[in-house]
Amino acid sequence: MTYRGRFAPSPTGLLHFGSLVAAVGSWLCARHAGGQWLLRVDDIDPPREVPGSAGAILAALPAFGLVADAPALFQSQRQAAYDAAFERLRAADRVFPCWCSRAQLVEAGGIHRQGHCITPPDPARPPAWRLRVPDVTVAFDDALQGPQRQDLAEAGDFVVRRVEGLYAYHLACVVDDAFQGITEVVRGNDLLDATPRQIWLQRCLGLSTPAYRHLPLALDGHGRKLSKSGQAHPVDPADPMTALRRALAFLDVQTSAVADSPAALLDAALERFDPARLPHLAARTL
Ligand code: GLU
Repeated sequence: MTYRGRFAPSPTGLLHFGSLVAAVGSWLCARHAGGQWLLRVDDIDPPREVPGSAGAILAALPAFGLVADAPALFQSQRQAAYDAAFERLRAADRVFPCWCSRAQLVEAGGIHRQGHCITPPDPARPPAWRLRVPDVTVAFDDALQGPQRQDLAEAGDFVVRRVEGLYAYHLACVVDDAFQGITEVVRGNDLLDATPRQIWLQRCLGLSTPAYRHLPLALDGHGRKLSKSGQAHPVDPADPMTALRRALAFLDVQTSAVADSPAALLDAALERFDPARLPHLAARTL
């Protein structure tokens, strides 16, 4: 089976150091395996989107030497595929409509785990749709973070379609990972604890589960995650070498001191690259 990896930025701001690390890490793993590296733009949440940022991110990547093997897949154009997946869940009675407000959920302990809505239906407003989550433990081996186990009931019945009719990230992500034939997901460790829910959704939809490799999360000097929406640590595509060298160093990847272009730097990194020697750390401070 051909290795297929991907980088899936959300267009909520400019490319920042944390997402450059995910892009470089996933690119190195794909190229090392002789596989393909694909792009997906996670633009399924218009209210959180920053206009122009999808284009800016896609334009920045080649400046860092990161060139994908196919045109990017845009989640905003995948509505029919998400509708079809949702209908399969509904036909299998795996989802239920939910009218609970945040305040009601807080009263109920913060999570929804009854398998049905605890609020009476309100025909005057549309419901969110939640996946009915049974008492099940999902286990998987993360290539960097080691064996993982999660009792899914702790996360509760989670939303797959929001009140506004928008699909939730978990649903869109698993449908698209399957559609793009992704064999290994390489991404930031902030998504490690979302992975069991995604694996469960894959099982509900009859989709295969890729391998997972969660890279250490980049933290700022205050121990906070670098956030695109906060515009923290944007990387400058006009000066790619500095950020690229820092991203490679962050991933403990040796490279050449004399490389004079991003492509040459990445080629030198690839020659020495061993995915098993990426840092087995949950987070790392810049
Ligand atoms: N779009 C997500 C983000 O930028 C990443 C999704 C993923 O890699 O599964 O945080």
